[in-house]
This record gives sequence, C-alpha cells and structure tokens, in this order.
Amino acid sequence: MEKKKKRKKKKGGEENREEEEESGRGGGHKNRAGGGGGDGAGISTTMGSSENRSAEIRKDTVNNRWVIFSPARARRPSDFKSKSKSNPNPNPNQSECPFCIGHEHECAPEIFRFPSDSTSNWKLRVIQNLYPALSRDIQPSSLPQNPTPTPTLSGFGFHDVVIESPLHSLHLSDLNPVHVGDVLLAYKKRIEQLRSHDSIKYVQVFKNHGASAGASMTHSHSQMMGLPFVPPAVSARLDSMKENFDQTGKCSLCEIQSNNFLIDQSTHFISIAPFAATFPFEIWIIPLCHSSHFHEIDGEKAADLGGLLKLMLRKMYLQLNNPPFNFMIHTSPIQSTPSQLPYAHWYLQIVPQLTGVGGFEIGTGCYINPVFPEDAAKVLREVCITIE
Ligand SMILES: [Zn+2]
Ligand SMILES: [Zn+2]
Repeated sequence: MEKKKKRKKKKGGEENREEEEESGRGGGHKNRAGGGGGDGAGISTTMGSSENRSAEIRKDTVNNRWVIFSPARARRPSDFKSKSKSNPNPNPNQSECPFCIGHEHECAPEIFRFPSDSTSNWKLRVIQNLYPALSRDIQPSSLPQNPTPTPTLSGFGFHDVVIESPLHSLHLSDLNPVHVGDVLLAYKKRIEQLRSHDSIKYVQVFKNHGASAGASMTHSHSQMMGLPFVPPAVSARLDSMKENFDQTGKCSLCEIQSNNFLIDQSTHFISIAPFAATFPFEIWIIPLCHSSHFHEIDGEKAADLGGLLKLMLRKMYLQLNNPPFNFMIHTSPIQSTPSQLPYAHWYLQIVPQLTGVGGFEIGTGCYINPVFPEDAAKVLREVCITIE
C-alpha cells in the first residue's frame, strides 16, 4: 500500500506541489529554493549539491557516448518537475476506447492473450498495430550485399501492440507486480515467436506514456517492432560492450558500480541512475545475473522485475509530478545465441520526458544533462513507498 500524500494545486495551474510526510525520511527536507519555486521537497535538497559543482563530461561506456553534465543549466529545482500533464486526454470524458475490454472487434487482429483460454476476462492482449510502421504482409528482402548509394529493404517487419490491462483507467504502475510481470512475459513470448522469422534481426520493445512521449492512445499499452536489420544504436552498444570485454575480460554491466547510483534492488535486479545518464532522472534496471537476451527471463524473474519496474514508475510519478515517459528494453539481436555474445547484457531504460532535444543534441549525438545521476538516484532512493 502506498503511503498517503497530500497534493495541493496552485491556482492558475502553475504547478502541482506535493508535500509528503513520509516516515523513514529523517525529518523531511528543507526547501533550498527559499520560497521562490515552491518546489517538491525531495528535489530541492538534492539539487543543492549540483549547484556547487562544475561541469563534467562523462563517458557512457555501455553505449559509447559522451554526456555533458552542466549543473549551471539547472536554474531552479522546479525545472525538473514535469509541467505538462502526462495525458492531455483529447476527450477528458472518455472512459472507454478500442483497447478496452468489450471493444475487441474494433481492434486489429489479436496475436495472443493472457490467459490464453480466457474469453471475456482477459488480463492482457497482444494485437497487431492498426497503423503499423512496417508490414507483415509483404515479402522480406535481404540486406544489400554490395555497397550501393541507395541501400533499400522492403518494408517487411512487425509492429505489435501490448494492451497491458483490460480497463481504461489503469496505468502500468497501477497493476500488481505479477500483472506487470505478465506484461513482460508477453514481450518474451512475442519475441520468441518473431525469432522464427529468419529475416527479423531485432525486436525493439518500448512504451510511450503521455502525449509528449509519443503516446497516441491513453489506454495503457506498449509496443514491439520486429525489424529486418539491427539498429545502429544496438550495434554501437554491442561494439562498445565487446571492446570493454576484450580489454578487461569482464562485462560492463556485471561490473557496474552502483554505490551512489543505486536506487533500489530486488531479488534479481538493481535499479540505478547510470553514471553517464543521457537524460535527467534516467533509470536503468539491470539483471544481476549476466544475460544477453531479455527473452531468457523466466516467470519468477518477470514477476520480480514487474515489482521493481512498478516501484520505479511510482517513484517517478511522485517525485517528478507524473511526467510523460518512455521505457525501452535493450536486448541483443534475436538470431544470435548467448554464447555468440558473451559481452552482451540486456537492461531496461526508463526516461522521463523532462527536457527537449535541441540542435546541439541533433548535431553532435551528445547530450547535455543538468542533473548528476548520483543526485537523481538520491531523490528516487529516498521516496519511501512500498508496493503490492
Ligand atoms: Zn480503453
Ligand atoms: Zn553481464
């Protein structure tokens, strides 16, 4: 059960303010902003340590990316609370949609459901995307063997939707850990199905929550795309992990130093704010046991991960004012085996959408992050909630 919190809303829609009286916080927090911002307590305390720091450039050795940490760009702690409503519902009175139970006939064809023999009482459904980016109905083509100025593949691929709950009003973080685990097991099952297509090289699992994070439906869902190529970000990550493995003989994620970066830990997973986080309050959930492919997960670990994922989403909701967010599962190419990729270790990345991407980021592929991850970890670590 989550502890109760008070929520006040200022007039004029300036911002939501959460004052949490939570046990185990050692007497609460002082607001450093001096009344200027009316900011959430947890954020204020922590940002103070950033303000005294100079900028630093850190390398993300997993993704081979440099990140500029520039605390000077964090003018006020409230800069990091989401100001946009996560789900600006185009129709606020809408209580049902095609993803709701009873509306199955309005959706694109179903692939499977949990429980598989359920009729009107399903828990989740995996369906085709009604507006797929790639088409499962056309012939796959092979990758060009010789250099060509215009490399092209047919648009063959899969684009599926996982409807995470039968009810419109429930978000992923409202579901119990076992149900969240079932969503993860649905990803696993669908990836295993897509592996049987030789031309599908990678499956990207992702969730967009909130319109500004790309969600077009408010009903809780995630998406999966089966791609006929390995995306460049995946190749860059694997190359970087391989280079590190060749130099040290160790896996970068098995060796990760959590220390100040640790947020929480479950039986089989840790959640951290990564050392060179690209985005403010970015979270990685990493399996403690080395594993190259997400689809190696079993039922017990899925439920365990379900609990930790739910906890991270709840903490983000509380500390960052229900921000729009994305999460992505970073796994390995599905046609390869674990023994072919001894250096690969999958993880789940959660990114709250708090800052935009500008010309510097587009131009360089480097990001400027105004929040040191050890500060973000502290803010998230100190939220005292339990889940069930
Ligand atoms: Zn719905
Ligand atoms: Zn590892």
